Amino acid sequence: MSERDDLFDITIIGGGPTGLFAAFYAGLRQMKVKIIESLPQLGGQLGTLYPEKDIFDVAGFPKIKAKELVKKLEVQVRHFHPEIVLDERVTDLKRQSDGTLVLETESGTPHLSRTVLITAGVGAFAPRPLKVNGADKYVDKNLHYYVNDIQIFKDKRVVILGGGDSAVDWANTLEPVAKKITIVHRRNQFRAHETSVKQMKQSSVQIVTPFTAKSLVGNEHAIEKLVVQEVRGDRELELPLDDLIVNYGFISNIGPIKNWGMELEKNSIVVNTKMETSIPGVYAAGDISSYPGKIKLIATGFGEAPTAVNNAKHFIDPDARTQPMHSSSSGELFSK
Ligand code: FAD
Repeated sequence: MSERDDLFDITIIGGGPTGLFAAFYAGLRQMKVKIIESLPQLGGQLGTLYPEKDIFDVAGFPKIKAKELVKKLEVQVRHFHPEIVLDERVTDLKRQSDGTLVLETESGTPHLSRTVLITAGVGAFAPRPLKVNGADKYVDKNLHYYVNDIQIFKDKRVVILGGGDSAVDWANTLEPVAKKITIVHRRNQFRAHETSVKQMKQSSVQIVTPFTAKSLVGNEHAIEKLVVQEVRGDRELELPLDDLIVNYGFISNIGPIKNWGMELEKNSIVVNTKMETSIPGVYAAGDISSYPGKIKLIATGFGEAPTAVNNAKHFIDPDARTQPMHSSSSGELFSK
């Protein structure tokens, strides 16, 4: 629909389940779509907070792991080749004099769009940082908050900090690849899935509990050792390492969205039955949206997404029907 390369019909803020399904749906309505996600990965709460948990209340899936649902949503959304921008947090939303909406991100790149759909859930996620002197200077060197390629840990001595699903899963995944894996947790009990903890305990993973990170020893380029201290004790251990993975969970914050001028209710954006916010051309759906009787579930977001997209389509092109053709009548769009 858009004739300018840099102008999108709809830009979706947030690549959680609602944003992904909305992007697919906008593709189905032949809109030019962009998704901007603050994390380096798609999936929202499912990908960050509970990837290994089973979900039982998504229609058509009697039981599905959160990360599997994300994979299926990704396959579905990529059918229409939306532009997907990862690792960029949208910080501002303004309107130009010609009506175009401009989204600004932390990278400073402006994104232009005719309509915007906010599916930002509980806000932008960021990893809970390691609060130890000098940690910041090693991020993107050998201190990792994310693991994108397990091969970089091949034959390395890796220390993992954390005691939840993510930490234990990475310990199990990297154990056959790395030279040595050590996991450090402040409690003797891990908060991860029982079967994962059992697998880790039966493997070669060195378990150091109840200890916390105290300091880092390293040179300009890399951490060489992590010093850990016993919780409520005096013992200190030095753990030599090649790589340090920090899995302390995520913090979320709707942050700048509060200043974009929309009507809000606590940390949610007020919408009407068309999922319109108080700014024309700006829609909200999923956990971030609020209306009387709102229920925050994946299924609700999946229902709200098509409502928002169909109304955004009609907003751009008043001749376009709000009520779409059924996807079952659009087979030609899927035969490619
Ligand atoms: P989110 O999943 O929160 O995704 C929002 C995305 O937007 C995030 O990726 C975030 O990084 C991004 N974002 C936010 N702000 C910005 C910004 N400014 N710029 C760029 N990106 C941004 N629901 C169920 O239906 N069934 C269940 O069994 C179930 N189990 C759950 C278990 C747990 C432990 C938790 C925490 C939740 C569970 N839920 C469940 C709730 C469900 O996960 C949410 O309802 C769902 O994730 C909402 O999807 P969403 O896309 O609206 O938001």
